[in-house]
Amino acid sequence: MDARPRVLLVAPRDSYRTVPYIEAARRQGIELLIASEGREALSGSDAPGLRVDLHDLPRSIESVTRAAATRAFAGVVGTDDTSLQLAVEASARLGLPHNPIESIRRARRKDLARERLAQAALRVPRFRCIDLACPLESQLAALSYPLVVRPVALSASRGVIRADDLSELRRAIARVRRIVTDARDPEERDTLLIEEFIPGAEVAVEGLLSGGRLEVLAIFDKPDPLDGPYFEETYYVTPSRHPPAVLQALTETVAAACAAYGLREGPIHAECRINSEGVWILEVAARTIGGLCGRLLRFGTGYGLEELVLGHVLGRRPDARSETGGAGVLMIPIPQAGILRRVEGIVAAQRVPYVEGGVIDVREGYELVPLPEGSSYLGFIFARAPSAAAAEAALRAAYAALRIVVAPLWRVERG
Ligand code: ADP
Ligand code: CA
Repeated sequence: MDARPRVLLVAPRDSYRTVPYIEAARRQGIELLIASEGREALSGSDAPGLRVDLHDLPRSIESVTRAAATRAFAGVVGTDDTSLQLAVEASARLGLPHNPIESIRRARRKDLARERLAQAALRVPRFRCIDLACPLESQLAALSYPLVVRPVALSASRGVIRADDLSELRRAIARVRRIVTDARDPEERDTLLIEEFIPGAEVAVEGLLSGGRLEVLAIFDKPDPLDGPYFEETYYVTPSRHPPAVLQALTETVAAACAAYGLREGPIHAECRINSEGVWILEVAARTIGGLCGRLLRFGTGYGLEELVLGHVLGRRPDARSETGGAGVLMIPIPQAGILRRVEGIVAAQRVPYVEGGVIDVREGYELVPLPEGSSYLGFIFARAPSAAAAEAALRAAYAALRIVVAPLWRVERG
């Protein structure tokens, strides 16, 4: 009989977050069952899998219930925005603590989140929802610029475009319309959010909610200006170098935003802007930070972010004090559209002091699609250093050592 606690991880195919959770479960002596889509979902891992369909909740919940009948789950974790609803509904069915389903919906749908945050009197940009199924011109009247067009349910800054006047706005909308055209949900296909551009410094907050109480685990600065027209994520550096009073206001605002969404349990990743008017919530996601960035975080006696999340569903309270020193990640930007020929200088980049490693995710010969249409990074570089400033400098030096060779792609237009 296996005495280890058993946790269900609900993950979309190809989630970046699955492997960190598998490793965390192994370190914590937790048996992980991974509910995912597709036959190849678990290639390369030795964790057992349960096949589900994230778009067929009733059937997937039945599969989870059958799996729970063979051996009960002590908890359920959803890894990504697209797998959270199944994770929450399965938790509800199994009688495990979980977030209200409405809170998860808000965390996925930027338009619903904006409405809720505004009702809760949090500082949010002026916003308007556009219905792409209706004539546009009247919907674009009396706006003030600059503003930002945002799809209501995409991620990784896909389709987020700044517009400084009406003609730029029309072009941005036409472009985003093509990006959201494949969305399964008609509301997500037809709704765009248009909101005031908020200037300022951007930060990301990683936290863990227990019974509605927010514990902040880490705050990342995004030291490169993010002024558009596209919003490519590049450097994330922790701990934040904003003054303590600002960080206090940030923590309070994120806690208030979680309460407004109705989120109560598990990891959150919030993004905010800070300027002379105060802290502005861009969004709160009910999951850990994207990409492989979580690996930068170490707490207490060496726990990683995913270990804290797994510990939380088991009711364990590991020491979540973050390690001293600085850490950072560079999500390597895609320099131009085309075919990746090669990445030169990897060895030199790895030799930069404090660089801990890196990953190039795109293989040679594959197509690179930059923002706003694209959704992936070329890869990641990680650094850990005595201070945030040293970690940032190491990442910049490593990036300067790289040469990314891209061959242009010639498309034949048939018409
Ligand atoms: P995603 O969920 O795809 O990451 P976000 O809504 O978080 O999309 O937007 C991506 C980025 O676009 C943000 O990190 C921020 O830099 C920028 N952005 C979004 N909304 C605004 C806004 N109202 N003002 C200024 N920048 C914004
Ligand atoms: Ca975001």
